[in-house]
Amino acid sequence: MPVVTAYLALGSNLGDRLGQMQQALERLAAGGVDVLQVSPVYENRAIGMGEAAPFLNAVAAVATGLAPLALLDHCLAVEQTLGRVRTEQWAPRTIDLDVIAYGELELVSERLQVPHPRIEQRDFVVHPLALIAPDLMIRGRRVADLAADLPADGLTLSGDSLQLPA
Ligand code: AMP
Repeated sequence: MPVVTAYLALGSNLGDRLGQMQQALERLAAGGVDVLQVSPVYENRAIGMGEAAPFLNAVAAVATGLAPLALLDHCLAVEQTLGRVRTEQWAPRTIDLDVIAYGELELVSERLQVPHPRIEQRDFVVHPLALIAPDLMIRGRRVADLAADLPADGLTLSGDSLQLPA
């Protein structure tokens, strides 16, 4: 497979949120993913989850030779190893990894849709993504323009930072 630049979203609202996000980057890097850049970390209210703890969210640019479904499977495996138990859809999560974009590929399949179907509504994805990939095109629109159109109410820079895996 040729090497492609992909974008991953990371989120956590349970336990050692920052530590789990850092661990996720390390484990992604151990399996065929070269982490190129990581956005600042945002803190976000937990949408639709009642009084659930707030999320930390960030996005990462990665280079990978993994095919799209292999990249998804790697993300799911990393979620598993970090102890995410899938219960109801909006349950608190130690780590959530989403494939935001895979190069310029547009794919809709049973298990994977890229670009991720809900990017445009997710301030906690659009705003960090705009900081590291303002010119990335998502369904015909620049990420910087998506960010300009999407209020960031409830989203604050946490002041934490994630490190590139060694
Ligand atoms: P969730 O972890 O609740 O966001 O849902 C993960 C499920 O959504 C996975 O089992 C995938 O099969 C499916 N899915 C579809 N498109 C994507 C994507 N772009 N990134 C991550 N999961 C996806």
